[in-house]
Amino acid sequence: MDSIKYLKSTDLKHWLEELARENSVFAPRAEGDSVIFAPFEPKQEMSIKHAPTVPPKKTVFPQSEKLVDFTYSKDPENLGRVMIEGKEILPEGTAVVFGGRPCDVRGFTMFDRVYLAEKTADIYYKTRRDNTSFITLACEKPENTCFCHWVGSSPSDTTGSDVMATPIEGGYVLEAFTERGQDLLTSRLLENGDRWILEAQEVHTIAAGSLTEAPNLSQAPQKLLDVFDNMDFWENAAAKCLSCGACTYLCPSCYCFNITDETAGMQGTRFRSWDNCMSAQFTMEASGHNPRPTKAHRLKNRIGHKFSYYPTIHNRIISCCGCGRCIKSCPVSLDIREIVLEAINYEPAAGEE
Ligand code: SF4
Ligand code: SF4
Repeated sequence: MDSIKYLKSTDLKHWLEELARENSVFAPRAEGDSVIFAPFEPKQEMSIKHAPTVPPKKTVFPQSEKLVDFTYSKDPENLGRVMIEGKEILPEGTAVVFGGRPCDVRGFTMFDRVYLAEKTADIYYKTRRDNTSFITLACEKPENTCFCHWVGSSPSDTTGSDVMATPIEGGYVLEAFTERGQDLLTSRLLENGDRWILEAQEVHTIAAGSLTEAPNLSQAPQKLLDVFDNMDFWENAAAKCLSCGACTYLCPSCYCFNITDETAGMQGTRFRSWDNCMSAQFTMEASGHNPRPTKAHRLKNRIGHKFSYYPTIHNRIISCCGCGRCIKSCPVSLDIREIVLEAINYEPAAGEE
């Protein structure tokens, strides 16, 4: 089977319509000032010129999802004994996500190391992950907040993608990288794409060449540990942060969640919803003690997790994919790149331990 195809731009919607016959299809759409991932509607314009404001994270890890319906009952022979019957609510159906960028889709591989770990795989995440295919759009013009190349990626990185779509004059070159991806490329709307592959490679080369030289982050895990107890460093870094949480909610590789139960009488539903480690409530304990009492502690954790603790556990892989959303969408433009570089270049003053 050919794994390189060409699709005319004018056929893009028709192709997605075909895929939508058997799958839920998600695609980028403008909503107000933002571009979000929404169910594909042939009558609505897609917004695919620039990277979406919101990554496609919720297509595999919904912002809020039902996990279990449960019912309490009391043992009539022993009223002190309460029994709980639960029924898992597993996601159903298959999905195709069109138009995520390489950084977005690579973000799911950061989830995978945690949510698909051998002994603790998360059945809800796994079910969606197994049933979702990604048709990724290669980036033609990285923005000045993009730094995928700092963290081992590129504007045409195929990690996690089933198909990479590269825009060229009049259409797209589609390359499949998985069996699932090949299955997506069987439409009669697609023609053999071999003769356009050099054009696609040129797009990749130009995009990669437009990025400035990347610093070496190999020392970041240790350097961030070196400044772990230096609260002056972190207070300075977090000074302008408003603790709004936009950075975590918009991050394709942030995966923290909270669990809540909603009950009515003897019945209830357990939900999982995204959480936000930049919030003061995140580590608040029932006693009132908060081990991360200030925004400086919370920012230290967020950056430390991505550039030090996660890479230490997971084969030196940084759990930031360099999408730049936390810079672009931060109301005070706090720049994670600057803080990591400051930590790497930090020299203790004379007498400082
Ligand atoms: S988006 Fe900016 S202001 Fe909001 S919590 Fe993140 S760093 Fe702080
Ligand atoms: S930390 Fe910022 S730049 Fe890195 S993946 Fe998350 S939102 Fe993107």
